[in-house]
Amino acid sequence: MSITQDLSGGPALTQERRVVTEIPGPKSRELMARKQAAVADGVGAVLPVFVERAGGAVIEDVDGNRLIDFGSGIAVTSVGNSAEAVVRRATEQLHRFTHTCAMVTPYEGYVAVCEELAAVTPGDHAKKSALFNSGAEAVENAVKIARTHTGRQAIVVFEHGYHGRTNLTMALTAKNMPYKHGFGPFAPEIYRVPVAYPYRWLTGAENCAQEAADQVIDHITKQIGAENTAAVIIEPLLGEGGFIEPARGFLPRIAEFARENGIVFVADEIQSGFCRTGQWFACDDEGVVPDLITTAKGIAGGMPLAAVTGRAEIMDSAHTGGLGGTYGGNPVACAAALGAIETMRELDLAARARRIEEVMKPRLLQLAEEFPAIGEVRGRGAMLAVELVRPGSKEPDAELTAAVARRCHQAGLLVLTCGTYGNVLRFLPPLVIGEELLNEGIDILREAFAAA
Ligand SMILES: *Cc1c(COP(=O)(O)O)cnc(C)c1O
Repeated sequence: MSITQDLSGGPALTQERRVVTEIPGPKSRELMARKQAAVADGVGAVLPVFVERAGGAVIEDVDGNRLIDFGSGIAVTSVGNSAEAVVRRATEQLHRFTHTCAMVTPYEGYVAVCEELAAVTPGDHAKKSALFNSGAEAVENAVKIARTHTGRQAIVVFEHGYHGRTNLTMALTAKNMPYKHGFGPFAPEIYRVPVAYPYRWLTGAENCAQEAADQVIDHITKQIGAENTAAVIIEPLLGEGGFIEPARGFLPRIAEFARENGIVFVADEIQSGFCRTGQWFACDDEGVVPDLITTAKGIAGGMPLAAVTGRAEIMDSAHTGGLGGTYGGNPVACAAALGAIETMRELDLAARARRIEEVMKPRLLQLAEEFPAIGEVRGRGAMLAVELVRPGSKEPDAELTAAVARRCHQAGLLVLTCGTYGNVLRFLPPLVIGEELLNEGIDILREAFAAA
C-alpha cells in the first residue's frame, strides 16, 4: 500500500515544500518582535516562523515558505492539519451551539465520543469515560479516580516520564528543565521508579526488562507498600523523555503486578495513542489492557480535548459532581474528535503509520551507519526517533541534536527534539503525509547531518 497525497479528501494547501526566504523570514521576524513585547518569555517557540495556514502535512508561514511537518503540533494533527471531516463536523457544530457546559445540560457529541473511546481503547470489558480539555487535566483526573477507587494515596511514575505541566503533573514528570525548574513545591505521595530503557541499561539491553521490572516491584513492595499504592502511571512508549520503548516484557509484568495487588494500572497514551504507533494504542502491541487510559493529543485533529477511559467500576467510583470542568468535552471539540476518529477508520491510519515506519526506519538505520553520532534508531509506526551521542560512546550530544534540528528548520523541515538529555530527534509526521514528502524530509535530514 502506498501513501498518496491529499488522503483526507483535500487539504487546500498544495503538499509541497517551498523555501522562498531565509527562515525565519522578514514577516516572521517582525511578528517575533511583537511576540517578545506582548507574550511572556516562558512561552517558547521551537521554530520561530509564524503560521499563515496549514493543511495535511504542510505548514505555510507568513513569508510564503512551506514547511514539511514532521511534528504534527506534537503528535496532535495525526489526521492532517484542517482535515476535511474535522473541519466539516466542527463547523456544523459551531453553527448549532458553541457551549452549554456538559455538566449543566448535556449533548449527544460528548456521549458519542465516550462510546468511540470504549470501542477503540484496549480490552473488551465494560468501559466509561470522562472528557477534559488537556492531557495534564486527564492525568490529574486519572489520579483522582484511582485514589478514590482504592482509598490509597501513593502514585508510582517512571524515570523519563512526562505527564504535563500542572502542579500535580509536574510532580509526576521526571525532567526538571524546563518543566519543573523553580516551580515547586510539588505534590506529595509521588514515587519515581526506573523504566526499562534498553539503550542505557547498564547491564545490557537483554537484561533490561527483567531487571527493571524486579527493581520496580521491589521498590513498590519494600519502600512504598503495595497496599498504599493507588496507581502506576506509565507511557507505553515514552514521549518527551526520549521516545523510549520499554524493553518487551516490562509493561506486561508491571500490569500483572498491579492487577495482583489491586493497584490501578494507568496507561498515559496522550502522545502514543490514536494510531500513532501503528495500532489504535501502543499498549495493543504487547496485549496490555490498562485499567485506565488517558488520551488527548491525537484525539480531535487539533481541537483541545482529552479523556480518561477505563473499567466502568473504577470510573464510577468518583461521586456525582466529583469530575468535570466548565469546558471539558466542549461540543465543538467533540465534533472534531468524531471527525478525526471517522478519518482514522476510513483511511486506516494505523496501517498508514506502519507504512511510515516501513519507509522511514530503513532510511534512518542507513543514516546511523553513515553518521556514528546516531547511537540508536527507535520507535514504532509514525513515532520514530534517533538518539545522538558522541561517537564511540553513549555520552548524549544535545548540541549536535540542536544543530541538526536548526539546519532542518532552515531547509523547510519541521522536526522536534526531546529526551531527558535533550539529545533525541523525534519524527511525528501526520499519518496522511504523502510518501514523496516523507522521503524528501529524510533527504533534508541527511543533508543536515552531513552539514552539522
Ligand atoms: C503532552 C502530554 C501530556 C500533557 O498534555 P497537555 O495537553 O499538554 O496537558 C501528558 N502526557 C503525555 C504522555 C504527553 O505527551
